[in-house]
Amino acid sequence: MFRRRSRAVLLTLLLWCLTVGPAPAHAQDTRAVRYTLRFPAPHTHYVDVEAVVPVNAAATVELVMPVWTPGSYLVREYARHVEALTAEDPAGQPLRVQKTRKNRWRVDTAGAPSVTLRYRVYARQMQVQASWVDDRFAMLNGAATFMTVADGSMRPHEVRLELPAGWTDAVSGLPAVPAGSGTGGIAAGPVRTFQAPDFDTLVDSPILAGTPTVHAFEVAGVPYVLANEGEAGVWDGSRSARDVQRIVETQVAFWGGTPYERYAFLNVLAEAGGGLEHKASTLLLTSRWRTGTREAYLGWLGLVSHEFFHAWNVKQLRPVELGPFDYDAEVYTTGLWVSEGFTDYYGDLLVRRAGLSSREEYLRELSRQITTLQATPGRLVTPLASSSFDAWVKAYRPDENTDNTTISYYTKGAVVAFLLDARIRAATAGRRSLDDVMRTAYARYSGARGFTAEEFRRTASEVAGGDLGPWFAHAIDSTGELDYQPALEWFGLQFKEPDPPKSPPPGWLGVQTRLDDGRLLVREVPRGTPAFDAGVNAEDELLAIDDFRVRADQWEDRLRSYPPGRRITLLVSRRDVLRRIEVTLGEEPPRRWELAVRADATPEQAARLAAWLGETAARPTP
Ligand SMILES: [Zn+2]
Repeated sequence: MFRRRSRAVLLTLLLWCLTVGPAPAHAQDTRAVRYTLRFPAPHTHYVDVEAVVPVNAAATVELVMPVWTPGSYLVREYARHVEALTAEDPAGQPLRVQKTRKNRWRVDTAGAPSVTLRYRVYARQMQVQASWVDDRFAMLNGAATFMTVADGSMRPHEVRLELPAGWTDAVSGLPAVPAGSGTGGIAAGPVRTFQAPDFDTLVDSPILAGTPTVHAFEVAGVPYVLANEGEAGVWDGSRSARDVQRIVETQVAFWGGTPYERYAFLNVLAEAGGGLEHKASTLLLTSRWRTGTREAYLGWLGLVSHEFFHAWNVKQLRPVELGPFDYDAEVYTTGLWVSEGFTDYYGDLLVRRAGLSSREEYLRELSRQITTLQATPGRLVTPLASSSFDAWVKAYRPDENTDNTTISYYTKGAVVAFLLDARIRAATAGRRSLDDVMRTAYARYSGARGFTAEEFRRTASEVAGGDLGPWFAHAIDSTGELDYQPALEWFGLQFKEPDPPKSPPPGWLGVQTRLDDGRLLVREVPRGTPAFDAGVNAEDELLAIDDFRVRADQWEDRLRSYPPGRRITLLVSRRDVLRRIEVTLGEEPPRRWELAVRADATPEQAARLAAWLGETAARPTP
């Protein structure tokens, strides 16, 4: 399989090489695979890849490309964008290539000491897990770009980019070597060369090339860059760099050290969205307009903070199942509530502790998470652990029934982190917190092996000074409702009382709608709503109530003119057949998930709230 060899095997091989001499043909080949990337017509969205692969006098060499990329748990079949693959020997003689699987190729070497592969990759997916090339810039993910030798992934991999005219730079979390020192050949423009010690690191190091504005800073002696591609005089580059530095300072202090030698924030301003974590970098997609409004900008800072927190939580401290990676197939884990949910919790919390958001803004964000959880019927169907396990078939494939059947491990994981944090603080009279769990788990389990679900829970119990097993069983393994009261009590918080009901309250159907070319369509029918019980379907076009035409822009107002309990007749078009559906309107359940500080909070509660939000002097690291 396409897996890294274990450290023990490598060490044995290394010792053998040192004591006996040159490795025989069957030993691990440590000679580098060298890639050159060219962009002869970037406006056509292609990157030309040339790879020089040393071979050990074997008759054939098997090449493989990942089907997924770490951090994004969906098989994406990157090989579908590869075309025009050829191979030749060092003398330029063509070699036979045979495709053996969807993502594998076999080259007959004819005894050549190395094979030069050439292929093109179509790159036009504006997603953090994919690649994009146009006339302005290239955003290249390793899994979507590079094929390597099957069972040879522990070799060094070197990437040399020949940039098109007008492009000024290429940035990556990988160490660069001096321009022009790559594989030789004549560069058409500026040349940048990066080195990765193994294929995992190459896959884990996206490259951004184009004309980025690069903001450099240092924290605790470690160099960082924020590379903004597409500032265009709109994005506030210096403010973003200053605030990213604050987030870095806060998180480095939180963990007490850094697991990388340099770190790159690759920020593509291309009216898209998303972020993906890597060991020494993160790739972020956003809108260049997001420094323009407070709320949008806070959202971006939360994204930065989330992805950066991953440099510790998941890139180093990870569920045991998440590595070594099998790039050929799905890798299942029940632990993404720690890797993603807890990261989501800390993402926003550490923006607050960095002083970049206000207490009210942070509580609003946490309230939004709680509201989303409590408004998702699927929380009563799928436990958090199962939601993680099924990420491969559910999380990245939402449909109209997703909210009815499952819950995001981001959302519920973040809310569970909040409740666990409060529980540990309460159990230890404020002396310990979830911060200590994360740091203790990091000290014990970061690195090659990872943690089992049981080990993480046990660590939390130790920090709390009592058995949290039943608490975890309820929060993670069951679909029981979460109990917010102990956390509210600890911090002196409450859920705001809902506004007094209008008299009489408006009727409630419960569908979510969307506009499609002027037509009002049902987007989702949540379980537990009058619409669900009456058989309204997703994609029904809403036309009339009680035979009175309702246009799209009138829908909400018209519905509000009927009281709860009223039986109405909906006229819908379902697959172009008109149907009448009888519905008894209900009353919308109150949304009572907005956190607020209690007016009668005690001084102790006020102090706990301030300590949690980093408003007082930092507590000593144990
Ligand atoms: Zn994440």
